[in-house]
Amino acid sequence: MNQHFEVIVIGAGSVGMAAGYYLSEQGVSTLLIDSYDPPHENGSHHGNTRIIRHAYGDCKSTMEDVRKQPYIPLSLQANKLYLQLDARVETQLFYPSGLLDIARADSSRLAGVIQTANAFDIPIEVLTADEINHRWPGLQVPEGYIGVLELRSGTLMCDDIIRAYRDLAITQGAVLQGNTPVRDIQIHSDGVTVTTDEATYTADKVIVCAGGWTEKLVRDAGIRFQHIRKTVALFAADEALYDVHHFPAFFFDLGAEQYYSLPSVNGMGLKVGRHDAGQEFDITAPLPPFGSYPEDMGEIGQFMAAHMRVPASQLIKGGTCQYTMTADEDFIVDFHPEHRHVMVAAGLAGHGFKFASVLGQKLGQMAVTGERDEELAIFSIGRPGLQDKVRLG
Ligand SMILES: Cc1cc2nc3c(=O)[nH]c(=O)nc-3n(C[C@H](O)[C@H](O)[C@H](O)COP(=O)(O)OP(=O)(O)OC[C@H]3O[C@@H](n4cnc5c(N)ncnc54)[C@H](O)[C@@H]3O)c2cc1C
Repeated sequence: MNQHFEVIVIGAGSVGMAAGYYLSEQGVSTLLIDSYDPPHENGSHHGNTRIIRHAYGDCKSTMEDVRKQPYIPLSLQANKLYLQLDARVETQLFYPSGLLDIARADSSRLAGVIQTANAFDIPIEVLTADEINHRWPGLQVPEGYIGVLELRSGTLMCDDIIRAYRDLAITQGAVLQGNTPVRDIQIHSDGVTVTTDEATYTADKVIVCAGGWTEKLVRDAGIRFQHIRKTVALFAADEALYDVHHFPAFFFDLGAEQYYSLPSVNGMGLKVGRHDAGQEFDITAPLPPFGSYPEDMGEIGQFMAAHMRVPASQLIKGGTCQYTMTADEDFIVDFHPEHRHVMVAAGLAGHGFKFASVLGQKLGQMAVTGERDEELAIFSIGRPGLQDKVRLG
């Protein structure tokens, strides 16, 4: 095998596999290396489905700031790219189930969702609790709450998307080296040397998107993360109520707790997880399996009993996954501060999958042109206070 490549991508998960696809599409000789055989269950991308939403509600209150907010335009671009990918393969990768965001009627976050939707012409419907309960009898929303339904958002098939990027990247000439952890990256003035247990590879450029492990691989860039263990549960559910063709993905903001759910696709079951909370863990140690903590099932069970028509006893499977958080919770997508031929994309938190397509495309462009879109400035490694504000560890 040729041991020299134009670009090596370390971490062929959500973002890395997309980057490999876009690089190989441009004819760039690309090696993708991953510790496992992606898609797999040891990172952040497994579990069949992910929400894609467009109207983010956590931006500042003025319209000017709303327009500077990068997540919304990136999410809209990402969705287009997923539709293009969907058109290239036989498996359906995006379901336009809609995304219903539920919170108290006086929620400032939800007000932000409505404001950003209006600013970006994102079609929404604002629904009362009664309207929600009537339209989707599988949901029980208390009085005083409202829902914002994003009509063009929906459900992404995350494992299938990574599979699609992988297969197409290989067809386009990329080389995938699975089950191969990278042990070391040596950065030289004109390239990099990447070492695994079996081989040494060289490249002109490297993109590191190794999720939570990125800080261990790029030690001198000043990257620090908080690693949060998350659980998620899959339930056998009445398909007449919860199938993707008539039940939306939802985000349910109870104030003190936030839950999300994804509809059942092809009878695979209803997925429910808690978005906030979780346990901080050591990335170098195995993730404690589902059931290790009493709250793993307890809190999801309580939410289900209060707001859904699915007994917790119908659990098919519980799983664990990880959020990789920066101190300010924005992503890192940038060149290494001292080496422009080294790129990093990580810290994608609990909402990064939807952006994998567009970030993969932009990283491919960064590798080819040596330039980064102004749109990504908020994700720079050198942004003020990123290191000072690391909350734990
Ligand atoms: C339970 C849960 C629910 C979520 N729900 C949503 C959602 O609804 N919508 C949404 O948009 N996002 C969601 N997310 C977040 C999203 O899934 C992640 O932000 C995203 O998958 C992270 O992508 P990544 O490429 O950074 O990491 P990954 O996809 O995990 O890829 C990192 C890859 O790096 C590899 N790697 C690590 N170290 C090495 C090494 N030394 N050598 C070689 N390879 C290495 C790993 O094996 C892995 O394949 C959720 C996350 C979780 C955990």
